[in-house]
Amino acid sequence: MQKKYLIIGAGFSGSVLAHQLATQLDCQVDIWDERDHIGGNCHTSRDEKTGIMVHRYGPHIFNTDKKEIWDFVNRFVEFRPYVHRVKAMHKGNVYSLPVNLHTINQLFGKTYTPETAKALLDSLADKTIAEPQNFEEQALRFIGKELYEAFFYGYTKKQWGCEPSELPASILKRIPVRFNYDDNYHNNLYTGIPVEGYTALMEKLLQHPHISVSLQTKFDSSSNMAGYDHVFYTGPIDAYFNYQHGRLGYRTVQFETHYAEGDYQGLTQMNFCDEDIPYTRITEHKHFANWEEHKDTIYFKEFSKETGEHDIPYYPKRLEADKQILLKYRDEAHLKEGISFLGRLATYRYMDMHHVIGEALDFAQKFIISTASGQKPPVFANQEA
Ligand code: UDP
Repeated sequence: MQKKYLIIGAGFSGSVLAHQLATQLDCQVDIWDERDHIGGNCHTSRDEKTGIMVHRYGPHIFNTDKKEIWDFVNRFVEFRPYVHRVKAMHKGNVYSLPVNLHTINQLFGKTYTPETAKALLDSLADKTIAEPQNFEEQALRFIGKELYEAFFYGYTKKQWGCEPSELPASILKRIPVRFNYDDNYHNNLYTGIPVEGYTALMEKLLQHPHISVSLQTKFDSSSNMAGYDHVFYTGPIDAYFNYQHGRLGYRTVQFETHYAEGDYQGLTQMNFCDEDIPYTRITEHKHFANWEEHKDTIYFKEFSKETGEHDIPYYPKRLEADKQILLKYRDEAHLKEGISFLGRLATYRYMDMHHVIGEALDFAQKFIISTASGQKPPVFANQEA
């Protein structure tokens, strides 16, 4: 008999899962999203005034080392090559990012070679820190005080709203340090931008006679889930449980939209690393698609703040207190029947698009195998909390 599944959230997790279920099982998939568009925080749409494709919730660059994920997304839409080059503004000067030989030479006003720059950073590194326990220690241990204070301390404080010493070292490990002039922000094998944006990709994923999308449909404890064989929840896990163990910490982002003629800053992303500039970065959208021509330009100034009751959660903070709360929700979730949790918000992790897609593909496979063998489907897409 045909099964009926409900997916909450039409971002990458929900859309990939819906696609896999509808194409591999005899089922009807309903997918609800509380917003008036699909795509979650990866949503893109063209700006009415300029025609430029806008990353509505901030810059999203597709990058992965996994060929199967790259091949998967390329089955649905065309991607064009794009290399993300980011510059940093510090005390009125522009620097190269991520930290590379050029950045080091710019900051110290020298002409170091790869070898002498390595020796310099080695001399600046705080070797008394054996095992870095947090973001600040990780920075001091590997790049030293000068680079940390110029490019990371202020930006991180603005971005996360706390001292970097309160944050996990893993946040800094996202960004490489290079002793050559390679200024590609990502060092993945496959990288690109979908020509018609991410929402077009998700439209393709959801285009199936057995998938029905309901927008502006909010899920809460009063939602009727009767008649569904299984529910997949991709929203914030604390919201699912009505915040009964407290709220998990997230940072949200507010965008201030600006227009200008021509080219405003000459590249997609400029980071503002000093604490006295209230925004973290400026994204100029037309540079994501340099194959297009636009006379005018649209750019966003990004302001980071703590997530209030009505704000959209972006970055999970994962402070120690958050992890304790998360464990309580996970325990609670394990007691439930007929529901699974996946994606950035439901598993409360800092995930890139390729992580989300990879995990949704794996999870769909596990779910399909478990239903075929009559076993309980996995409750979470990830093991650890
Ligand atoms: N970061 C920083 N200065 C920069 C860029 C990044 O201090 O110029 C820190 C900051 O804490 C940020 C983290 O490194 O949250 C990861 O940076 P990434 O560029 O990956 O951030 P995302 O694009 O995910 O916001």
